[in-house]
Amino acid sequence: SCKQFPTGPIETTLCDYETVESVTEDLYTELHSLVETPFFKYFRVDLYRECPFWSDNGFCMNRECGITTVDESEIPERWRAAALSKVEMPPEDQRTLLPGCYYRDSDYCFLDDMTEGDYVDLTMNPERFTGYVGPSAHRVWSSIYEENCFGMSEVNLLSGEAPNPAPATPPDSLTGALKADSAENTRECLERRVYYKIISGLHASISTHICHEDMDQTTGEWGPNLKCFIERIASYPERLQYIYFDTVLLLRAVARLGPYLSAYDYCGTGTHEDDTATLARLTKVIDIAQAVGKFDETVLFRGENANILKEEFKEHFRNVTRIMDCVGCDKCRLWGKVQTTGVATALKILFELDENALDPRQNANLLQRSEVVALMNTLHRFTESLHAVNDFRRMWAETGAQE
Ligand code: FAD
Repeated sequence: SCKQFPTGPIETTLCDYETVESVTEDLYTELHSLVETPFFKYFRVDLYRECPFWSDNGFCMNRECGITTVDESEIPERWRAAALSKVEMPPEDQRTLLPGCYYRDSDYCFLDDMTEGDYVDLTMNPERFTGYVGPSAHRVWSSIYEENCFGMSEVNLLSGEAPNPAPATPPDSLTGALKADSAENTRECLERRVYYKIISGLHASISTHICHEDMDQTTGEWGPNLKCFIERIASYPERLQYIYFDTVLLLRAVARLGPYLSAYDYCGTGTHEDDTATLARLTKVIDIAQAVGKFDETVLFRGENANILKEEFKEHFRNVTRIMDCVGCDKCRLWGKVQTTGVATALKILFELDENALDPRQNANLLQRSEVVALMNTLHRFTESLHAVNDFRRMWAETGAQE
């Protein structure tokens, strides 16, 4: 009786699961090539800023937690810090400075100081199992969920979620039929629910990567771990739903940003052919995003206290990006920063920028390179998670066939 794929509308969006499923593999193929191009694979990040919220954030000493950086001389000159700080830094009056970082009023994230940090080749440091577990990781996740408090009494949503019991029957999220959103409380305001979905979807996507590229502790071999996926994601259908939700949200942002992305200068990668190929891949991604990214951002932040709520939402999301400095594992922190910056960039595009602001002729310096790189890599991460879910579904079906 279980359907092959999840069906029906993805709540709070104008899109359904079938539509996302129908483009997942194409989108994944295009994005996977795109993020391997020089423009999209080099990311500048400051991994050594102090955690602003607590001091004892236990460091992961496993080899897998480490990252390799790239010498600045390998980076095309026009993308380097000195050039970037001239071209990309917004004027002083448009940014708010804090020690080691700054933001513009429209930003949903704190961007690393452009004069600090290292370049990282993201393709050389894949997000996967690192062994970063225990109280430090849990504390970071709890703090992120606790930001979900908009002028109301504080509720710890981590403990508030009612987990499903261990699955005696095949989990629906593996066989396909996703149930109605059981974690939803209709009395909650829409913005609060959206915040929770964004975070829970990000958490579920990271967990999916960990389970899909897991290391067998005894043999040292890497591979997908179905049990891990069942325990951490498939047993909680709403977590999988939120991966779809985040994907649609990001696609909508990419769709709106289409003209700006098409006009962006990707040169510096080497040959003219390389630059043309980068743009061609990007165009395919934008086309898919425009067809599928049906998220109606206008339903949020309406009514009497809309502006106050939006400022709170922004402030909370900025805090999430700062909490990334408390992640005690370099590789996890790197991907945490990439993805929270990517989601923050999407939120800025959806909730802060009108068509005039998004017009590349009127606003050529709208986004920094790091925001564009983070946005596309984050969409790639989520699409890769959906691709991994398809793998897990196949593995589950094969397990069933053997029994
Ligand atoms: P956790 O994933 O730590 O979750 C803690 C609790 O949150 C769970 O017990 C559950 O109650 C609840 N929960 C779990 N998932 C969800 C969800 N989707 N929605 C709502 N509630 C949920 N580890 C790696 O190996 N590689 C990485 O690249 C990596 N990156 C990370 C990035 C960040 C920003 C952080 C904070 C951690 C990262 N980790 C990474 C650690 C990883 O996320 C887990 O914390 C770790 O694997 C321990 O998992 P756990 O099973 O104890 O539960």
